[in-house]
Amino acid sequence: MASSNSIHVAVLPGDGIGREVMEPCLACLDALSLRHGGFSFSFETLESGAVVFRETGVALPDEVVKRAVKADVMLLGAMGLPDVRYPDGREITPQIELREIFDLYAGVRPVETFPGSLVPLKDPRAAKLDFVLIRENTEGLFHSRMTPQVTGDEEARETMLITRKATERLADFGFRLAERRKARGRGEGRVTCVDKANVFAAFAFMRKIFYERAARFPGIKADHWYVDAMALSLIRNPWNWDVMITENMFGDILSDAAAALMGGMGMAPSADIGDRHALFQPCHGTAPDIMGTGKANPTAMLLSGAMMLDWLGETTGDEGLAQAGDDLRDAVRCAFANGTLVPFEVGGSAGLKQVSDRVLEALKA
Ligand code: ATP
Repeated sequence: MASSNSIHVAVLPGDGIGREVMEPCLACLDALSLRHGGFSFSFETLESGAVVFRETGVALPDEVVKRAVKADVMLLGAMGLPDVRYPDGREITPQIELREIFDLYAGVRPVETFPGSLVPLKDPRAAKLDFVLIRENTEGLFHSRMTPQVTGDEEARETMLITRKATERLADFGFRLAERRKARGRGEGRVTCVDKANVFAAFAFMRKIFYERAARFPGIKADHWYVDAMALSLIRNPWNWDVMITENMFGDILSDAAAALMGGMGMAPSADIGDRHALFQPCHGTAPDIMGTGKANPTAMLLSGAMMLDWLGETTGDEGLAQAGDDLRDAVRCAFANGTLVPFEVGGSAGLKQVSDRVLEALKA
């Protein structure tokens, strides 16, 4: 941190509803700093994404990266638009490049449900889910995405990369998180490696390393599950899990399924964490189908802001920041508690303003 109480946040609002949900998030963070008094935020807006690419031909300008490196932390809305693409048809994805540039290897996607929010599963256990999916962010099947081998109009190949280094640090991250959760009475102290080790050598390798690292955390249980069986389990009995780690592409897919368990993309926060830097963003994309309509649910962005406060609290040891993270989550819980706040995404009529106002009210109460 630049000074003891000023936190420099690089704000990358991006495109579509990313820009819309960022505003209430910054308002909540300011409200929290007023309420707590021990810290303040200096927000530096950095423009990148599909609109910047359309105007300049560059999605993530060097200057943005240079400035973001100097910040204490990064907060991102969402990036990309379906009509803004590279010549080969892929959408621009600076949010993925940022993970690689800053080595943000752990994609942390907590799956938490709370009273009053509308969830799709009827079993009462689905209303109090509390598990964390950790997606490897720097390799896996995304490894060759910038260098695909395309042979004329006949063949296209992508290569999956699993390295010892990335698997070890991901497993360690998962075990340490399970330890912290267990110490707080959340979760049983268990990490599950989600893979496809019965078919692919790369996943057999990943699983072997996972168990090697497990031996260093004797207080935490380690087990494994096949990704296809996990897809089934997320719908049948998602309350079974505590912490799971998985490969990049599997994590991409499973985290959208997990978001559905929370009541939709608008409810699912995420963090991309490395050893030196961290970036916080909602799991959702730019949602071009609803941008500009006021229907975007900002909850995922607000909860990502709470995760940012948790991380700042942990890395600086400032208890006020950690408390502010809890306060923001409590305000979101309070906003949904009586069941009258039902976002558009799940058939209700609460949009950006209604959800933001309720959370801000709860924060100021
Ligand atoms: P990406 O590939 O960038 O992750 P995506 O193509 O998977 O994005 P999203 O932009 O996340 O898609 O949108 C998926 C669906 O979820 C869309 O119907 C969108 O309207 C809805 N959605 C996403 N985020 C929100 C939100 N915050 N509030 C309401 N609906 C949302």
